[in-house]
Amino acid sequence: MIKDVGGIHAFTGWDGPIVSDSGGFQIYSLASGGPKGVSISPGGVTFRIQGQKKKRSLTPEKCIRYQVQMGADILFALDDCPRDHADKTELAECVDRTLGWGAACREEFDRQTAGQDTSPLLFAVVQGGDDLDQRSRCADGLLEIGFDGYGFGGWPITDSGTLVDEVGAVAEMLPDDLPLHGLGIGKPDNLAAAYMLGYDTFDCTIPTRDARRGRLYVDAPGDAPGTFQYVRIERESFARDPRPIDDRCDCPCCIRYSRAYVHHLFAIGEMSGHRLATLHNLRYFTRLIERLRESDV
Ligand SMILES: [Zn+2]
Repeated sequence: MIKDVGGIHAFTGWDGPIVSDSGGFQIYSLASGGPKGVSISPGGVTFRIQGQKKKRSLTPEKCIRYQVQMGADILFALDDCPRDHADKTELAECVDRTLGWGAACREEFDRQTAGQDTSPLLFAVVQGGDDLDQRSRCADGLLEIGFDGYGFGGWPITDSGTLVDEVGAVAEMLPDDLPLHGLGIGKPDNLAAAYMLGYDTFDCTIPTRDARRGRLYVDAPGDAPGTFQYVRIERESFARDPRPIDDRCDCPCCIRYSRAYVHHLFAIGEMSGHRLATLHNLRYFTRLIERLRESDV
């Protein structure tokens, strides 16, 4: 257990803020991905980890206890993420469970953090799919329970790669003074678009996964914030390129190394290439947020 090694901050050596997820989305991914043995009830979720016989359960109470023990700074309440293209009945059921589990998470969170000098924050996730009535019912219900911040849940990106309209609609359903988190958003152009709709924080695998695949982000010519292009570092054209990945970037990779060197690291399968690429992509995203904030006067 992570609490036995001093919590997530000590374990990772990271003293910046850490957000933990409820684990719900991962379970639903399993459920929609086909494996039998995942069942959802008003009390929580039972599931089986691939290759293991034993069934496990995730209840709202367990979800909060695990996250508190982990020692994260922002925790997420357990929510029920509907399948893609779920019908109206299913969306309403998901919202019912999200509200029921949200209330149970809130109670458990208050029990677990009572008496603490500095309490972490508890965020909830607004579900409801593409049904704006359900999104609104979910937002209102969660606001009534009361959380420190709110996230957009479900599928945020259309098949053509832009934000779904509900991302903006949900932002309008919530008060301006509360933090908004965009789960699973995204590529720089979508992140910038969501930021301008009112979202403050984001999480996504894209910056690190793309880095490992040799897709490094740089700005592209264009007026829209977040307009980007890739430096596909494995291409032979970079083998003799002495320039940094991005001459405006102040990351450890760009300050010290050339495209040619990073290309070489990828070519020989040296893992430090992945690491430098990851550092660059993460810095590209934090620089993008910095620039959005500077222009947000
Ligand atoms: Zn860089």
